[in-house]
Amino acid sequence: MKVIGLLGGMSWESSIEYYRLVNERVKTRLGGFHSAHTVLYSVDFAAIERMQADGRWDDAGAELNRAAKALEAAGAEFVVLCTNTMHKVADRLADGLGIPLLHLGDATAAAIKAAGVRRVGLLGTGFTMGQPFYRDRLAAHGLDVLVPDEADRDLVHRVIYDELVLGIVDDASRQAYREVIARLVAAGAEGVIYGCTEIELLVGSGDSPVPTFPTTRLHADAAVDYALGTTSLPRPPT
Ligand code: GLU
Repeated sequence: MKVIGLLGGMSWESSIEYYRLVNERVKTRLGGFHSAHTVLYSVDFAAIERMQADGRWDDAGAELNRAAKALEAAGAEFVVLCTNTMHKVADRLADGLGIPLLHLGDATAAAIKAAGVRRVGLLGTGFTMGQPFYRDRLAAHGLDVLVPDEADRDLVHRVIYDELVLGIVDDASRQAYREVIARLVAAGAEGVIYGCTEIELLVGSGDSPVPTFPTTRLHADAAVDYALGTTSLPRPPT
């Protein structure tokens, strides 16, 4: 079993889900006393959030590059960056790194295509929904990506930063997300990506009339399958 390097803390509310999910999947796959062989590097999210808000993405990339190298030094054989948003700096993170990054966008795209979905709605932070780095990666896999309108993007973003990363799970916000999802479906989405690693703390498959793609679970599953040698790394778009 390969050693999984979890680069987390963004936020820790979702990192603990990664830790639980990789261990549950190894237990399901191997049984008995088996658990995931894992190294976790967890950052202080306050520093990263400040860099995001200030647009200091180079600094954030350098910080994550140091963290990824620390994971490598600690024995990790590949890196799982436990946030969609920070894949904006995936190239900088991987600079000079001797182990691969299991890219969340590629793992998600593979699952969507395997489900036969092509037109997909995307929920995530304002950075993930509004900027090209994530949408273009999915589009390069042949997917047609729909994002909510500006008011709905603001709502989805606010719930992530004001509630979910702080451990607040609110019924009114769940209902608001359901309504955003319904509007994406009315606009033609055949599936919906929960493209922020805290979103699946709030909504599940029952909150959407179309298939959902929860990125924390998909990423954790892909990490275990790669660690156990069942699959190769999800392929980047060509
Ligand atoms: N965990 C979130 C994501 O998947 C947001 C927190 C962050 O900005 O990293 O995008």
